[in-house]
Amino acid sequence: FDLLRATDPEIASVVLDELSRQREGLQLIASENLTSPAVLAALGSTLSNKYAEGYPGRRYYGGCQVVDRAEELGIARARALFGADHANLQPHSGAQANFAAYAALLTPGDTVLAMSLPHGGHLTHGSRVNFSGRWFDVVGYGVREDTELIDYDEVRRLALQHRPKMIICGATAYPRQIDFAVFRAIADEVGAWLLVDAAHFIGLVAGGALPSPVPYADVVTFTTHKVLRGPRGGMILCRAELAARIDKAVFPFSQGGPLMHAVAAKAVALREAASPAFAAYARQVIANARALADGLASEGLRPVGGGTDTHLVLLDLRELGVTGRDAEARCDAAGITLNKNAIPFDPQPPAVSSGIRVGTPAVTTQGMREGEMKEIAGLISHAVRDPGAVGEVAAAVSTLVDRYPAYPAYPR
Ligand code: PLP
Repeated sequence: FDLLRATDPEIASVVLDELSRQREGLQLIASENLTSPAVLAALGSTLSNKYAEGYPGRRYYGGCQVVDRAEELGIARARALFGADHANLQPHSGAQANFAAYAALLTPGDTVLAMSLPHGGHLTHGSRVNFSGRWFDVVGYGVREDTELIDYDEVRRLALQHRPKMIICGATAYPRQIDFAVFRAIADEVGAWLLVDAAHFIGLVAGGALPSPVPYADVVTFTTHKVLRGPRGGMILCRAELAARIDKAVFPFSQGGPLMHAVAAKAVALREAASPAFAAYARQVIANARALADGLASEGLRPVGGGTDTHLVLLDLRELGVTGRDAEARCDAAGITLNKNAIPFDPQPPAVSSGIRVGTPAVTTQGMREGEMKEIAGLISHAVRDPGAVGEVAAAVSTLVDRYPAYPAYPR
């Protein structure tokens, strides 16, 4: 920090102000976490200087012997942790990992069956504003209106009707466990590839708290920065037969040189994720999400899908007569960071929406447990219902986070 401050005080103040923001508020965005100082050290290292196009032992640049070790360690750790035949650690992001999976398995114009965006799918699952919706013929499935759970009958019916070349499961705002065996059976019935986009929940799989998609999927893509608690980035796992296709689809098809500092940081995160402490954290993430869902339900915020099996809760605010947009702004003013989110069959446009999404990875990393989740539920409810309570809620947030300091070893 001192070096940065001496060279560039403006950016130093951005870095320190963001550290303060993360420390002083409640971080409840389901796709965020507080990564470890060890991961941050690898990210901020001189590995960033090295060009290493290609893969370990087969690079297009000299001097890669040292960085090769980082990538080899990362690949071995990913394969061992997830029981996968092959791992590629180079995707710069989750979207890049999905781009590479499409490129490896499909040609433009092919049909894909994926969860629709308004029901919780990701932009890369067929949105018209994304390459996936522009270059592929994407058919969307969703949840049932009565249960708000994935409609597996509809998935099968649409698969038989449209004969997709690839089926995608995994979402950004679906709180329940996904039945990978059913998706595998449907994919086999129509001769489709099965891509599991495990971005949100792979950290729970790593910690043994949720079933793994690896035995069922042809390809598993994910981000490394959510529950998994690694650096911002992407990763791909696949069966041995697809290894060469996946590797070529990442480099040279869709990316140039890998970010070796990020690859090394992913390796660090994978080592951390293999520890007993991480398994305990993963179980606590789910226990906390359940406690938060129960607490919010008793405050009149309805958990969509009847609750959660994961790290996230999607809440329907219509009973309170507050939109997702207003709820997000009111919480933000009180130091509670969360996001507005469309709920299935939402009557509001996405920029307004009727819901919010909350997640427990960051607060669990800070050491909070079920008792604190009850407190947080009360604070969210108070902030959302009463804009006049902002000062009172902000003071309570401040007291709570002081009990569970983020990054205690970093400067104040
Ligand atoms: N896939 C899913 C299911 C996601 O939730 C996300 C990000 O939120 C992504 C892919 C894309 O990840 P990134 O933002 O790293 O491109």
